[in-house]
Amino acid sequence: MHVADVADRVARGELTAEAACARSLEAIAAKDGALHAFLHVARDEALAAARAVDDRRRRGEPLGPLAGVPVAIKDAICTEGLPTTAASKILRGYVPPYDATAVARLRAADAIVVGKTNLDEFAMGSSTENSAYGVTRNPWDPSRTPGGSSGGSAVAVAAGMAPCALGSDTGGSIRQPASLTGTVGLKPTYGRVSRYGLIAFASSLDQIGPFASDVRGAARVLSVLAGRDPRDATSLDAAVPDLEAACGREVRGLRVGVPDEYFAEGLAPEVGESVRAALRALEERGCVLRPVRLPHTSYAVATYYVLATAEASSNLARYDGVRYGLRVDPRLDLRAMIGATRDAGFGAEVKRRILLGTFVLSSGYYDAYYLKAQKVRTLLRRDFDDVFREVDVVCSPVSPTPAFKFGEKLADPIAMYLSDVYTLPASLAGLPAMSVPCAPTRAGLPVGLHVVARPLEEATMLSVAAACEAAFPCASPL
Ligand code: GLN
Repeated sequence: MHVADVADRVARGELTAEAACARSLEAIAAKDGALHAFLHVARDEALAAARAVDDRRRRGEPLGPLAGVPVAIKDAICTEGLPTTAASKILRGYVPPYDATAVARLRAADAIVVGKTNLDEFAMGSSTENSAYGVTRNPWDPSRTPGGSSGGSAVAVAAGMAPCALGSDTGGSIRQPASLTGTVGLKPTYGRVSRYGLIAFASSLDQIGPFASDVRGAARVLSVLAGRDPRDATSLDAAVPDLEAACGREVRGLRVGVPDEYFAEGLAPEVGESVRAALRALEERGCVLRPVRLPHTSYAVATYYVLATAEASSNLARYDGVRYGLRVDPRLDLRAMIGATRDAGFGAEVKRRILLGTFVLSSGYYDAYYLKAQKVRTLLRRDFDDVFREVDVVCSPVSPTPAFKFGEKLADPIAMYLSDVYTLPASLAGLPAMSVPCAPTRAGLPVGLHVVARPLEEATMLSVAAACEAAFPCASPL
C-alpha cells in the first residue's frame, strides 16, 4: 500500500493505524534478517503511537495527513528516545534527547516511526558498505548494494517494510539509492526542509527528503516536512504549494532539457536506453525535449569532494570523546584520549575525508583548493541558471550504472566517487532533484530517471516524475 492509501483508509476508519503498523513490523520481521535495512526497530513505541492515533480517531478528532503511515528514519536523523548512531561506532549507544524537526513534523502529521535505517557512516558513501554495523542488501538482487548513503531507507521502502522513509542527500544519497532500488526519492531545494536534528556532514549541501513507493507519497511526505523552522537558519520562509495536486497535472508543453554531458562516457548502455525510453514517454505526453549544455559538469566531482570533505572535517571535530558516544581510555591525557577515541571510533572512509578536508582548508592550500572549489561551484550554478531560462526541468540518468555488486567499488574510492557524477551538480547548485523509476534493465535491475527543477519548483518536478511513473509502473522486488 502506498502512503496516501494507508493515510486515507486510516482517516476513513477502514484500516486501523495499529493494523498498518503491525503489517509493517511483520514485514520487517520476515525480511530484514536477509536485507538488514534497519539498525533499530522501535516495535513497542510504534505500536503505542499507532494505538494513540486510533484512539483519537475513535474520539472523532481530526487526523493528520500521514495518519497511521509507517515511516522509517535514516539513522543520521535524531529521534527522541531512540538510538541514533549515523552508522558510526563513535555514536554507539547515543540516544538523542530530542526529535529532529523533520521527525517532529512527521509525528505531528500522525505518521508512525517504525525504526532507524542503515547508512554509510556519517552518510559518506554510495553503497551503504561504509556502515560500521554491516551492509544492507538490495532486494532486487541480494548480491548487490542498494546504493547509498541512505541505503537502509531505500530498501525499507523497496521491500515493502514501510511505504515511506526519510533520507538525507548531500551529493545524491537519496536519489542514487532510490534509483538503484526502484523507489521514488526526492531531494528538496536547499532550505526547503529544516535540518535541525540531522547529524551534519556538509552543511552547505545537506538536505532531508523522502523516499516513497510512489510519487504522490513522496509529495505528501514533502508537504509535511517543508517550511520555515526557526531552529535552522538556512530554512526558507517560502510558501509550499499543493504538491500532491501537482502529481496529476498535465505536462503538455513543459520543456525538458536533456544535457549532452550526462549521456557521455561512463554511462552504462542499458541505463542510457531506459532513460531515453523514459524521455520518449514524456515526449508522447506532450513534453518538448530540448538538448542543453551544462559545460562545467566534468568539474562537479572534484568540486564536491573538496567542499564536502572540508565541511565534514569541521563538522566532525565535535566527536572528541567528551560530549558524545565513544570514549577510549579516559586515563590518557586529553589530547591522547581524543586521538585514541577518534582513531577507534571512525571508519576508514570517514578518516580519509577528515584528512582530505583538513588538507584543503590548511593555510597555503586553502586558496588552491577550497577557494577555487567555491568559485567552480558558482560556475556550476550558473550553468543551471542559463539552462533554466530555456527549459522547465532537466532530465538525465541518476546513476551511471544499475546496482553494483558488494566490493566492486570499495577498494577504489575514486570509482565510488564517480558514481555520483550525475547527482552532484544539482546538489552544488542547491536545486530540487528526484529519482523516479523508469524501465528496468534486461536483467531486471531498477533504473531511475533524474528530474531537476528550478529552486522551489518541486511541484513542476513532481508533475514530470508522475508522468514518468504513469508510463513505467514499478513492480515490487519481492
Ligand atoms: N556519495 C556521496 C558521498 O559519498 C554523497 C553522499 C550523500 O549524499 N550523503 O559523499
